[in-house]
Amino acid sequence: MPYISTRDGGAPPERLPFEATLLRGLARDGGLFVPEQWPRLDRAALTALRGLSYAEIAAAVTYPFLDGLMPADDWRRMVAEAYRGFTHRAVAPLKQLAPALWLLELFHGPTLAFKDYALQLVGPLLEAVLARRGEHATVVVATSGDTGSAAIEACRDLGAIEIVVLFPHGRISEVQRRQMTTVASSNVHTIAIEGTFDDCQDLVKQMFADEQFRAGLGLTGVNSINWARVMAQVVYYVAAAVALGAPEREVGFAVPTGNFGNVYAAHVARRMGVPIAELIIATNRNDILARFFATGRMSIAAVEPSLSPSMDIQVASNFERLYFELAGRDGAAVAGAFSTFRANGTLPAEPRLWREAQTLFAAHRVDDGQTRAAIAHTYAMTGELVDPHTAVALAAAEACRSARDLPIVALATAHPAKFPEAVESAVGFEPEPPPRLAALFERPERVTVLPNDIAAVERFVADRLRAEQEA
Ligand SMILES: *Cc1c(COP(=O)(O)O)cnc(C)c1O
Repeated sequence: MPYISTRDGGAPPERLPFEATLLRGLARDGGLFVPEQWPRLDRAALTALRGLSYAEIAAAVTYPFLDGLMPADDWRRMVAEAYRGFTHRAVAPLKQLAPALWLLELFHGPTLAFKDYALQLVGPLLEAVLARRGEHATVVVATSGDTGSAAIEACRDLGAIEIVVLFPHGRISEVQRRQMTTVASSNVHTIAIEGTFDDCQDLVKQMFADEQFRAGLGLTGVNSINWARVMAQVVYYVAAAVALGAPEREVGFAVPTGNFGNVYAAHVARRMGVPIAELIIATNRNDILARFFATGRMSIAAVEPSLSPSMDIQVASNFERLYFELAGRDGAAVAGAFSTFRANGTLPAEPRLWREAQTLFAAHRVDDGQTRAAIAHTYAMTGELVDPHTAVALAAAEACRSARDLPIVALATAHPAKFPEAVESAVGFEPEPPPRLAALFERPERVTVLPNDIAAVERFVADRLRAEQEA
């Protein structure tokens, strides 16, 4: 399964192996990698997944994407190892809340949020590829909260990798910050940027665009645009659909959405053959995607803080992958559209493209008041405490599901104890922190605050890594 860039206008476009998508993250032309074709999960393949463990399903679903990178047995072992430390035996359990409403709990990994499901696999995968090539790399990550800690947990103490994480100073929760700043591994470096998440993301893009800096430090990304992460996220959609009766029975998903990576993985599962009848994009007040689906216009507004900070994003990077598909895989058109988007903040999209997008997704905006109400309502009806991101998905599922009898699965993307203030503001008490979280408050923090300035950030990173190498 070779990969192509969403911005490659060549006829035919350049084809790259899986390994290249893993090491580069972003294509040289600024586009994102997508597989040249979708591997198929037909009825027999879906049926064969019934009763398998999460790791077995993961190995089977993802192997075709690896493009022959390693033997199937090696991959099965690596996948089994990646999910071994998760604290629930089902890894991604489904919990029923109402007759046709389910939660998919994706918070049983080391950082208690869904990004562990991809990154616990991508870290070792990257390490294995680097080791085989005899190379070292510096993973640079911009995070709105959960990616950073998940990437740190995935890369800490790996011999071939240094990891540098940029997060928006003062805009993430204390738990999220401590999960990053209290890790005592010498290959972990955290920077608080005086700016927004989009500023952090821009700084990372600029570091990658600086060819000398990038090559000198062997920069690589494991941000949500990295294809391997999307690939790993496809797995829980397949596993949940099979558990609920696929291929015989259809299912819908409501996904709390920021960068569009998670819901895009659901779309990939659908393209592969999983019977997904409905995909609901749930956004908070940062509703650029909901506005696009309502009006056909995608234009950037200022990022506003909300109760669900991991979705406080305006530029939903992975949307480019869907756009590429809807634009008939025309890389030159995508390159033009996204450079216009970057220049003036509005993405050119023909009405035809917008209408097709509407047939694939529903989208709904949930404000902070509705988020609190969903937390309170869920608790009153079921006794379950949900985190604010999950609550956005539940509220959107209620508001825009199309059929009462279609099973809807809302993604529980974080453990409620990661966002105790938000939960308390809804139900009047804080969730019990799991032992893993409680321990964070005992440990010292290591972090450097820097201005939103590329020169300052590059200088700091280069000095830090030089010091690390000399130590
Ligand atoms: C990252 C994150 C999201 C948003 O996921 P995207 O893939 O960026 O759309 C939602 N909820 C939580 C808890 C997250 O950490």
